[in-house]
Amino acid sequence: MTVKERGAMVSAYRQMAASGLGIGSSGNLSQRIHKGMLITPTGLTPAAMEPSHLVEMTLSGELAAGQLLPSSEWHLHAAIYLARPDIGAVVHCHSRHATILACAQRPIPAVHYMIAATGLDEIPIAPYATFGTPALAASAVTAMGEHGLACLLANHGQVAAGKHLAQALRVAQELEELAAIYCGTLAIGGGKVLSAGAMAEVRAAFATYGQQHSTPNSDER
Ligand SMILES: [Zn+2]
Repeated sequence: MTVKERGAMVSAYRQMAASGLGIGSSGNLSQRIHKGMLITPTGLTPAAMEPSHLVEMTLSGELAAGQLLPSSEWHLHAAIYLARPDIGAVVHCHSRHATILACAQRPIPAVHYMIAATGLDEIPIAPYATFGTPALAASAVTAMGEHGLACLLANHGQVAAGKHLAQALRVAQELEELAAIYCGTLAIGGGKVLSAGAMAEVRAAFATYGQQHSTPNSDER
C-alpha cells in the first residue's frame, strides 16, 4: 500500500475522532489489502498517528517485525474480512448513543428509513464477549449475517463496514445518528417502527439512487 493510501487511512481515523465517533484511542479502523489488512495500531491517539504507524498483517494474525502492535480488536476486523468477501473496510468505535443502546442490549428498529444504509431493517446486538477475543469477533460476524454492514456489540460499542473506507465511516456515522434518534424517541414514549413493506420500498429506491453508490451519502438524503 502506498504512502498516499496510508495517509488517506490516517485522515479517515482523524475524521472518525473529529466527528465524535471515537474517544481517545478507543476507536480503530482497517482496510482490506492483498496480503490481509492494514489496521490502526493499539494505544495511539488520532493526533499522534502517522501513516507509518499503520500495521500490515495477515488475517490469521501474522505481521512482519518492526511494526507497532495492531489494535487489540484485530480479531474482530479479520473475522469480518474472512466471513464477508464483499467488505473492504471496517470501523469499530464506542460512539456514545450506539454504546448506550449496546449497554442496554437494545437493537435499533426501523424508526428512521436511513437504517437501510446499514443493509438491515434492524441493527442487531451481538451477544457479549470479552473485548479483543475471537469469541467477540465470532459474535459480531454472526450478528451482521450475510448482508448487514453494522451491529452493536453488547455492553461495548458498535461495528460498521463497507466496500471501502468512506462507506464504512458513513455507516458508522449513520448508525450513531440512528442510535441518537432512537434514544430520543424512547425518551418521549417510543418511536413508530416502519413496516417491512415500507423498508422494502426504501431499499428499492436506494438501489437506483445515484450512479456509483449502493446507498446515498449522508449529505444526499
Ligand atoms: Zn472496543
